[in-house]
Amino acid sequence: MPDPLKLGDTIDDYCSRCKLLMNHYVVSLVEAEVRKVRCQTCGNEHNYRQGKGGKKKDTVKSLFDQVVAGLPAPSTPPRTKK
Ligand SMILES: [Zn+2]
Repeated sequence: MPDPLKLGDTIDDYCSRCKLLMNHYVVSLVEAEVRKVRCQTCGNEHNYRQGKGGKKKDTVKSLFDQVVAGLPAPSTPPRTKK
């Protein structure tokens, strides 16, 4: 049986703002189940997703997304000439 979590414990979960699996604080517990967590990096508070992102696909895609998200945007000038 795993150790019961307490409020303020650190737990891994997917942060939709960081778009990464980050350390979170447990902020809401219902009968020893984590309901809400807060990202330790950006402070975003959300329902605990059990470490899963919104996607149901394999993790290879999400890892790729993470790499793409970390890249600077391509420098395309905003002006459009006609
Ligand atoms: Zn975050």
